[in-house]
Amino acid sequence: MRIATITKIIFIIFIIIMILFFLLLIILIEINSNQNNFSKNIYFNGEKAYKDVEYQISLGPRIPGSTSHDQTTNWIIKTLDQNNWKPKIFTDNVADIKISNIIGSQGKGRPWIIIGAHYDSRIFADRDKLEANQILPVPGANDGASGVAILLELSRIIDRNILEQSWAKQIWLVFFDAEDNGNIPGWSWIMGSQSFADNLNEKPDLVVILDMVGDADLNIYQEVNSDKKYRDEIWRIAAQLGYEKYFISEVKYNIIDDHIPFIQRGIPAVDIIDFDYPYWHTISDTSDKVSAQSLAIVGNTILTWLITP
Ligand SMILES: [Zn+2]
Repeated sequence: MRIATITKIIFIIFIIIMILFFLLLIILIEINSNQNNFSKNIYFNGEKAYKDVEYQISLGPRIPGSTSHDQTTNWIIKTLDQNNWKPKIFTDNVADIKISNIIGSQGKGRPWIIIGAHYDSRIFADRDKLEANQILPVPGANDGASGVAILLELSRIIDRNILEQSWAKQIWLVFFDAEDNGNIPGWSWIMGSQSFADNLNEKPDLVVILDMVGDADLNIYQEVNSDKKYRDEIWRIAAQLGYEKYFISEVKYNIIDDHIPFIQRGIPAVDIIDFDYPYWHTISDTSDKVSAQSLAIVGNTILTWLITP
């Protein structure tokens, strides 16, 4: 063999090795950029959630039976539909009150997790200091709108790809009606979630309720009736994210909220509620008391908890 031929063969082998090397490089870059896209996709946007709080306030108090309530129902359904969460509405009549619970779902199988929030607001601001205000409706920026806003932002983020990487295999976002009119003649608390739980054919594996989760001065203590194992798990994720100042690892309140009907049926449930809210059931429960940052803290915690294997 002549030297020129050997040189040619070495040159060809060199070219082949170079081509293989570049192909490998391209594959590695591709894998890396997919991972970056994934982490970009799972960013919870507090500003978007805050806009949804403002929008609900712009519609007016979401008292069951009112036009504002109907507009809110339609808007939630439309948003879920746009985000591919196949919305369904379940209506019921309890004590002559029409209840409309809204459900969006993604995925199938187990574990089946329900994330819920009430979307109605209270008829009377009966905890307002001024007596004249006590017959006015509660605007419900924190008490109602904040939980809805977080659920809707989750519906924009969580899709089939993300669900596949999550430990939860089926997620339902449930918007409960008629939660907030206890101690008013003809009404009671948690009517929507009671009706929902009464009509369940199968038991979900876990229910997490978000209520009053947007206070600009966020202090979420643990709630007594909540399932201890899952409650501690969520608080631990919050601490890992650096939110231990907002998710305080101390049991403080015993609350009648939308988690109770599930607990009564033996379904583990956790209530995430900031009950240290001076504007609770007053006419001052307005958007300026809620912050995008607080919505992001709670939203990020729930999102991270859902996708952490
Ligand atoms: Zn309330």
